[in-house]
Amino acid sequence: MVLISACLVGVKCRYDGNASPQEHLLAMISDERFIPVCPEQLGGLSTPRPPAEILHGDGFDVLKKRAALVNSDSHDVTEWFLRGARETLYIAELLQVTTAILKEKSPSCGVHSIKRKGVTVPGMGVTAALLAEHGIQVISSEKVYEDYVRYRRDRK
Ligand code: SF4
Repeated sequence: MVLISACLVGVKCRYDGNASPQEHLLAMISDERFIPVCPEQLGGLSTPRPPAEILHGDGFDVLKKRAALVNSDSHDVTEWFLRGARETLYIAELLQVTTAILKEKSPSCGVHSIKRKGVTVPGMGVTAALLAEHGIQVISSEKVYEDYVRYRRDRK
C-alpha cells in the first residue's frame, strides 16, 4: 500500500484550488493500492488558500521548531502544517504504509526541494520530513520512475 499526494492523482486540493495530475503516475501505480492524502487539508487549511513558504531551513527545521511557515498574507501557519504532517503520519501508521509518493517542491510534500520566494531550493517539506523520520520511504513525484521501479524490484 502506497500513500500518495492527493493532488498528483487529480484531487483539487492545491492552494490555488487545482490539482497536479500525472497520468503516467496513475498508470504506473494502477496495480497498487494507494491512499491519496493532502496534508494541508488534513491540517485544517482551506482550499483554495494563500500559498505558504518555509522561512529559513526546511521541513526538518520546522519539526525542530527552528523554522516557521508563513503564508502570502504574512500569517504564521506553522501549526496547521504540523498538524497535517501528524495526521498524515497517523494514516500511514494505521494502514502500515511503508512508502509515500509525494509532490516535489511543496512546503508539505517536497522530497528533495521546496519553493522559497519563487525559487526552487534544496530541502524537504514538513510532511515528507516527518514521514522520513519515522522510517517511511519518501519518493519524489519527479523521480518516481527510478525510485518507484527500484521499490517494486526490491519488494520482490
Ligand atoms: Fe498536493 Fe501535498 Fe500540497 Fe496537498 S499538501 S496540495 S497533497 S502537494
